[in-house]
Amino acid sequence: AAKAAGRNRVRLFTADLRAAAQHKATVAAELRDAVDDGQLVLHYQPVLHLASGRCTGVEALVRWQHPRRGLLAPADFLPTALQHDLMTPIARWVLGAATRQTAAWAAAGLHLVTSVNISANHVATGTLVADVHEALQASGLPPEQLVVELAERSVAEDVDRAAAQFAELRRSGVEVSIDDFGSGFSSLGQLVAMPTGLLKIDRSLVAYPQGRRSQAAAAIAAVVALARACGVRTQAEGVETAEQLALATELGCTFAQGYHLARPMPAEDLTGWLAGYAAQPATALF
Ligand code: C2E
Ligand code: MG
Ligand code: MG
Ligand code: MG
Repeated sequence: AAKAAGRNRVRLFTADLRAAAQHKATVAAELRDAVDDGQLVLHYQPVLHLASGRCTGVEALVRWQHPRRGLLAPADFLPTALQHDLMTPIARWVLGAATRQTAAWAAAGLHLVTSVNISANHVATGTLVADVHEALQASGLPPEQLVVELAERSVAEDVDRAAAQFAELRRSGVEVSIDDFGSGFSSLGQLVAMPTGLLKIDRSLVAYPQGRRSQAAAAIAAVVALARACGVRTQAEGVETAEQLALATELGCTFAQGYHLARPMPAEDLTGWLAGYAAQPATALF
């Protein structure tokens, strides 16, 4: 009986695996069409310049408006995209859409610096620089209004290659930032040598739990000091409370971003949000 039960479990397990593989294949096929069918959308999260209190930029974050499953987050489909060679088509779409939108805002009198996330895969394929330049050319957006973000763990995958491409982007006027800084276990020495203008301090350091303020402050202060010594600016990510915003400001971060300021939103909601933000007293956020 025990043996039979074991066999049944194996059979069930195999069926589950087959179902999971089938589901993945379906998602990949749907995702391939999604890029062409206009099902990808960008949401934009405001970035605050702390010294002036003004919103000076946005981060573009991709979502998939799935016909049946609703709005999907990057974590729900980017891993599948990576496995099925769909990262580059998605990245090109993101770059195109983000630069067009930023140029449209500029034409309407709204000057914003937009940052776009790129993957280690895009660095590895070697088309990143050309794809960025193509998007700038097609949209007419000045390079100074674009920032390219690469996560610390992605930089670590191939530091030399990333450094070469970062340098090329920066020579052409596009800023490069290291995302999720402090989340990985990368060599500080290597990171310090990267041609970057901005470190985005990871949410795990910024969004400290109750009672851990002094530890968080020490970690953030260390990153800010390191960045300053390298002539690099800092941005606090994942600011969720007034206290966290106050801390980031006090410790000298240049920019901040997080749910306490605003959640990522569709492009058409941004002007409304900005009007509301400008109308409130400067001290309202702290
Ligand atoms: P990220 O670049 O570090 O982006 C910040 C993520 O944190 C976003 O999640 C954002 O919605 C979320 N976030 C912002 N403020 C807060 C906060 O105060 N609290 C919390 N808990 N979360 C906050 P999202 O949009 O789900 O994106 C997740 C990750 O997916 C991004 O992390 C980025 O690594 C990746 N990603 C997003 N869009 C793209 C894209 O177009 N291309 C590529 N290659 N990756 C992307
Ligand atoms: Mg990012
Ligand atoms: Mg980040
Ligand atoms: Mg993150």
